[in-house]
Amino acid sequence: MSEYQYATVPSDGERIAGDTANPVVPDRPIVPFIEGDGIGPDIWAATRHVVDAAVEKAYGGARAVAWMEVFAGEKANDRAGEWLPGETLDALTEFKVAIKGPLTTPVGGGIRSLNVTIRQVLDLYSCIRPVRWVPGVPSPVREPEKVDMVVFRENTEDVYAGIEWASGTGEAEAVRDFLQERMGATIREASGIGIKPVSPFGTKRHVAAAIRYALGRRRDSVTLMHKGNIMKYTEGAFRDWGYEVARELFPEDTIAEERLWEGEEAAGRVVIKDRIADSMFQQVLLRPEEYSVVATPNLNGDYLSDACAAQVGGLGMAPGANVGDSVALFEATHGTAPKYAGLNRVNPGSLILSAVMMLEHLGWDDAARAVDRGLEGAVGARMVTYDLERQMDDATRVSTSRFGETIVAHM
Ligand code: NAP
Repeated sequence: MSEYQYATVPSDGERIAGDTANPVVPDRPIVPFIEGDGIGPDIWAATRHVVDAAVEKAYGGARAVAWMEVFAGEKANDRAGEWLPGETLDALTEFKVAIKGPLTTPVGGGIRSLNVTIRQVLDLYSCIRPVRWVPGVPSPVREPEKVDMVVFRENTEDVYAGIEWASGTGEAEAVRDFLQERMGATIREASGIGIKPVSPFGTKRHVAAAIRYALGRRRDSVTLMHKGNIMKYTEGAFRDWGYEVARELFPEDTIAEERLWEGEEAAGRVVIKDRIADSMFQQVLLRPEEYSVVATPNLNGDYLSDACAAQVGGLGMAPGANVGDSVALFEATHGTAPKYAGLNRVNPGSLILSAVMMLEHLGWDDAARAVDRGLEGAVGARMVTYDLERQMDDATRVSTSRFGETIVAHM
């Protein structure tokens, strides 16, 4: 066990064992939380209240989360003089399941983004973003109830790997010369250049996680979203390796869509299909009911998850998780909204729905459903925070904490 200087390990909790595919969860699991900056403390307080009430409601005291505060962002900087103390990463590694509010990206100081650093250091290679409509939430589409998708975005590769050189630098010119002289590829003078690595290792572990998720939650398909007709050796390879890993690791439990066209029945197996990225944006609008889990490379997933979130009412209610082989970190998908910090005003829905994902990951589905019921009840009663209230007729605007209490009252 690690020594903690700033955090305190709860004496009445136990460690989660196993890995993210098969977590072994005690009745009082220790779960580290990072409150977050800006509106983080507001939404965290409401989330913790809702989760504790749901667990109590579902299990009557037989189970409870042993929360452990760990520090990152401004609070860490105040206490430890560091934005991301090593012990916080140690705690996430040791206790395996954690939840966090949004963190400010420090300006200057040499850290690019705390979120990116956490993902890289812990190798959280899949970003999971479920997109489902909560009845009553204002939506720009006519049938938001047809949307029930989970976007699995690869987190470590693609043009987001950060390998790029600015226009006019010696590095960019050296790469341009190399490509011209050695590979016979011409690049226009003074171009900025970025590299798009996509590997079989990175793709297969990610698509395997998406398939395992679909199997575990009885979802009927995994769609590989790619632009392989143009970028054959990166996006096209993502598609090919995706089908390959399904055949290699899940031969009995999956079936390629092509075989359905040849007349075979799915017979309870997860259907693996693929769609070109641009058509996928049409599909999620026109035929969302045909898509369940969608596995994507990094860039496609970034675009698709926000587009899908908009269909069900926007980012204020969009949950997320970043997951690797041994650590799962659940988090709000929006930022710190500094102008609302401490005003008890914003919507805690994104962090609360991330906590629902966490409860499902722990296998505490009854508690997860209690939160869902409470949230649907609060929105149904039209007692909502300002962001929803301003789009709804006859709704009552409530504070962050009151929204949390209303959710608890409707469980
Ligand atoms: P933001 O914090 O997400 O806020 C943008 C706007 O989104 C807010 O002004 C507000 O809109 C709305 N919003 C966000 N969260 C809301 C909530 N819970 N309830 C209701 N409305 C909400 O984005 P930003 O201003 O670009 O970023 C601020 C800081 O957050 C930056 O330091 C950025 O680096 C950081 N950030 C962190 C994360 C993370 O930790 N995962 C993610 C993104 C950004 P209205 O003004 O219209 O009410």
